[in-house]
Amino acid sequence: MCQKHNEIAQNPSHFEGTAEELATATNVQVNFMDYIKDMKFFDPHIHMTSRTTDDYQALADAGVVAIIEPAFWLGQPRTGLSTFKDYYSSLIGWERFRSSQFGIKHYCTIGLNSREANNEALAEEVMEILPLYLYKEGVVGVGEIGFDDQTAAEEKYYRLQLELAKEAGLPVQVHTPHRDKKKGTERSMAIALEHGIDPQMFIIDHNNEETVKSVLDQGFYAAFTIYPFTKMGNERMVEVVKQYGSERIMINSAADWGISDPLAIPKTAALMKIKGISDHDIRLVTYQNAIDAFAQSGQINVEDFENPQEIDQTLKYNGNTILRGGQQPRVDKNALIIR
Ligand SMILES: [Zn+2]
Repeated sequence: MCQKHNEIAQNPSHFEGTAEELATATNVQVNFMDYIKDMKFFDPHIHMTSRTTDDYQALADAGVVAIIEPAFWLGQPRTGLSTFKDYYSSLIGWERFRSSQFGIKHYCTIGLNSREANNEALAEEVMEILPLYLYKEGVVGVGEIGFDDQTAAEEKYYRLQLELAKEAGLPVQVHTPHRDKKKGTERSMAIALEHGIDPQMFIIDHNNEETVKSVLDQGFYAAFTIYPFTKMGNERMVEVVKQYGSERIMINSAADWGISDPLAIPKTAALMKIKGISDHDIRLVTYQNAIDAFAQSGQINVEDFENPQEIDQTLKYNGNTILRGGQQPRVDKNALIIR
């Protein structure tokens, strides 16, 4: 038994980690991977379309075994229906394939994002095609939808999409606004209840210390985005879990085209470990709760990612591969012959 474990065994109240660990954690010089060996993670909100193959490799190396990619805003307004179609198709097609090439199970949620709900002419057209994608394999929810500027148009399309979710029996992934967050979060939940949907079918996202109590008290799932500078830092997240426990709480990276960190979950898990959160609670907020919430779609089979997945980078998707000229595919199947 190593020195650290001895200390903990002798002093069970010593949950804060050693002085050395605390110091290294604040100095960020710590190798977080040392603290999360053998842990598995599920990131229920990450926009891989905007990320590189290096990110996929880093996620796989850090123990992220499955992810959910919500449909969202691409950073500039779309000009027509076709780009929505192509985007949704890529979420259930090419991006899922790309993810599989790194042994990561990829799911998605499909929806009209709040920002683009304000282009009503286009929003009407998008509403018509949503059912074509919502019933596809691997679509685990309607999302991310909700409020941005909290306009009447946003409310209209939020409500319409709640009805689609109800009809399809899918969970709803709710984006809460950056401005007037408390008001927007309360409004999202009140409307959800008005539509007669079980709060357990809702994952209310981008929570903070101001919103979490009400979300949990009303029976919704509370997701937290660990996103540098804007949403939550992971030291604050540790305090939230200490205060509220692990029930119905989950964390995500929401990594996208902005300055964000796809490794937010493994890093936060390491910090939780250092700060004395139990392995049981870490597992719930970084893995199991997200699975429980989105498995209500009937689209998640944990056997697809619980054990190491075969990776075969010689595979193609519609004739296209992730390899470029001259690159060697990585094939690590459980093959007997090793070349
Ligand atoms: Zn997002």
